[in-house]
Amino acid sequence: MATGTLHTDLNALVENWRALDRLSVSETAAVVKANGYGLGAGRVSKALAKAGVRQFFVAVAEEARALRAVLGPAPVINVFSGHMAEDTSLINDLALTPMLNSPEQIARHRERLPGHQFGLQIDTGMNRLGIEAYDWAPEMAEGATLVMSHLACADTPDHPANAAQLEAFLSMTAGLRVPRSLAATGGTLLGPEYHFDLTRPGIGLYGGAPFTQAQSVVRLDLPVIQTRKLQAGETVGYGCSFIAEKESVIATVSGGYADGLIRAMSGRGQLFAGDIPCPIAGRVSMDMIGVDVTHLDQVPPALTILGPQQSVDDLADAAGTIGYEILTSLGARYARQMA
Ligand SMILES: *Cc1c(COP(=O)(O)O)cnc(C)c1O
Repeated sequence: MATGTLHTDLNALVENWRALDRLSVSETAAVVKANGYGLGAGRVSKALAKAGVRQFFVAVAEEARALRAVLGPAPVINVFSGHMAEDTSLINDLALTPMLNSPEQIARHRERLPGHQFGLQIDTGMNRLGIEAYDWAPEMAEGATLVMSHLACADTPDHPANAAQLEAFLSMTAGLRVPRSLAATGGTLLGPEYHFDLTRPGIGLYGGAPFTQAQSVVRLDLPVIQTRKLQAGETVGYGCSFIAEKESVIATVSGGYADGLIRAMSGRGQLFAGDIPCPIAGRVSMDMIGVDVTHLDQVPPALTILGPQQSVDDLADAAGTIGYEILTSLGARYARQMA
């Protein structure tokens, strides 16, 4: 087999949810948008539901199809983007709970699906999604299942925006008798005053920062297609950007930017043979990566690019991005295994 093998450890995922649930003074939901951060929303959600998750969040209504099919009718599926004009039948048929984001969405929802459950998202300073303070009236929350907002800087605990958003959330929701939610993974780690009635972790479940105690969930092994010896002065790959300083051995592994291993890793990231790091040699191609394995006694059949040796955040750092982007870019060509 010449494709990489992407292994998702569902037990580790469930343990990460349990760990965040223990940290949280409130109910703990699970965010499974973007196909469960690239790992497969159906399987991920099924495992989490079995572990006791009762509320899920997706970004857009279409993403809820795969969820409802595996979850059955009981779990709550909340939709961050709310009630868009084309969403009415999906929201109705799949019994979704849209997080209404504007007076227009509230009007649409009340008119088209009177009596159907909904939540509200309010903007407390991120200026991305949610009802603005100048449009907000607490009466809007009448009948809502949840009032939520989102923090812009929760991964930076000392950032003044956290306290400012907390303050705004408290003042906009004062006196409401509706469950409230402010924290994603970062907010959960900020402490109990950010937890309210429901926390909404995503990335921490999948093993990513800022939940640094998370267990490793993904492992990605790329098979070695070929190895070759290079003389000093020979080069590797497009643009000849790697130049061998001495006699070297280069392994060509299967996997490239078409598989989400982005070109920014060129000449910067590394793969692993067991615990031994092996640097990427030259540019990442569409389907292949050259790896310097000169120092190995024996070249294994596959090299590991994600696993306990190297987290999504380690790889992201090498490529100048974040773990979220590495995860959600993981391609469709891998042989995907879940256990
Ligand atoms: C993506 C998202 C989350 C989950 O965020 P993580 O940082 O992955 O934990 C929670 N709430 C909202 C509104 C989001 O967009």
